[in-house]
Amino acid sequence: MMDFDNTEIAFSGKSNADLTRSYWLFKIIGWNWLIKIGPVLLKIFMPLWFPIPIIKATIFKQFCGGESIAECEQKIAELSTLNVKTILDYSVEGKEEETVFDENLQEALAAIKKANGNPNIPFSVFKPTGFGRFDLLEKVNAKEALSKNEQAEFERVTNRINTICSAGQKANLPIFIDAEETWIQNTIDDIALEMMRKYNKEKAIVYNTAQMYRWDRIAYLKDLKAIAEKENFFIGMKLVRGAYIEKERNRAKKMGYEDPMQKTKENTDKGYNDALKFCIENIEKVAFCCASHNEKSNLILIKLMQQHNISTTDNRIYFAQLLGMSDHISNNMGEAGYNVAKYVPYGPVKDVTPYLIRRAEENTSVAGQTGRELALIKIEQQRRKSNN
Ligand SMILES: Cc1cc2nc3c(=O)[nH]c(=O)nc-3n(C[C@H](O)[C@H](O)[C@H](O)COP(=O)(O)OP(=O)(O)OC[C@H]3O[C@@H](n4cnc5c(N)ncnc54)[C@H](O)[C@@H]3O)c2cc1C
Repeated sequence: MMDFDNTEIAFSGKSNADLTRSYWLFKIIGWNWLIKIGPVLLKIFMPLWFPIPIIKATIFKQFCGGESIAECEQKIAELSTLNVKTILDYSVEGKEEETVFDENLQEALAAIKKANGNPNIPFSVFKPTGFGRFDLLEKVNAKEALSKNEQAEFERVTNRINTICSAGQKANLPIFIDAEETWIQNTIDDIALEMMRKYNKEKAIVYNTAQMYRWDRIAYLKDLKAIAEKENFFIGMKLVRGAYIEKERNRAKKMGYEDPMQKTKENTDKGYNDALKFCIENIEKVAFCCASHNEKSNLILIKLMQQHNISTTDNRIYFAQLLGMSDHISNNMGEAGYNVAKYVPYGPVKDVTPYLIRRAEENTSVAGQTGRELALIKIEQQRRKSNN
């Protein structure tokens, strides 16, 4: 059975200084009050003084690969020595100009070019709001009528996404489409379905993402399977729990509609593990990625693979975690020969700050996550001390 507690393997890429930095970083991230006021202070002071060197040496170093694809080289090589692959994730968020969407497309194509034929980069990924305005995606989602200009604008969004999926197919490189807020997710699901119809005829190239904190997602998976069977294409699916729970609950409450979130964490966990089971039982039709830091879910999938006699290196099943989090899962799985990858976010420090704030907030709000990272670092520091 997999042993996630082997801290020697978990931190084998980290020097003592790296461990100390990570320890203090997670400790500070655990300070709720700081993570609450930090983003507000950053917003106020950003136009006057933005502490790029401090951020780059601390939180950016923990959670990002570099400011450009070239700067990520070292991280890609480092991970590959542990048999962990890289998924380059251009994490610039919150910019809504057409010129930026076009630049993002060029960046996505550059990442595909970098991955083409590179065994250390098995997927590419994009966030749909990197290619179109949030409000436009929301309007389409709500089935509101679009003006002529908006129709043209939306066509540009789908064209950008199509360009990426087409490039993925040409490079034989699967593409993950990240999931976002429920009030734009139908738009994303519809585009993803079109892309699967077009590019998944022989194998899964396009992967959509199912957020299992939503109580309707098992039904979504079943419906998608019925369509795929009828129309004869493969499904690609990244399974996550979901990153926007507080925002989702607040909006549902404020606007008075039914909360789309599972009522409890236990329900989300059950939904997630049921989805793993659903995918493996339909493995002839579904290629999927267990994108999670939850030890139990990773172990459940390992067990399911054993029960179904599926090889650890079967390319239809991948495991993935985010850079800077849960190395004990990624590295121990890499060591045991599973297909495992890290999302390696990159981009200019200032532009990836919203991503970094989300990581900090997640590590504060997710019970146990920070505590677990800290406990493992302490065990490893102790182990190294007693070995000297
Ligand atoms: C490789 C990778 C790709 C990702 N891509 C996306 C993406 O495209 N879209 C996206 O939204 N997220 C994405 N995420 C983030 C992910 O959704 C989670 O926020 C994060 O991974 C934490 O969940 P976990 O499975 O690691 O496990 P855990 O730490 O066990 O679970 C925490 C999660 O459980 C859920 N939860 C917590 N409390 C409750 C509650 N009271 N009731 C119901 N549910 C609760 C929330 O979703 C919370 O994030 C990605 C994560 C990874 C590792």
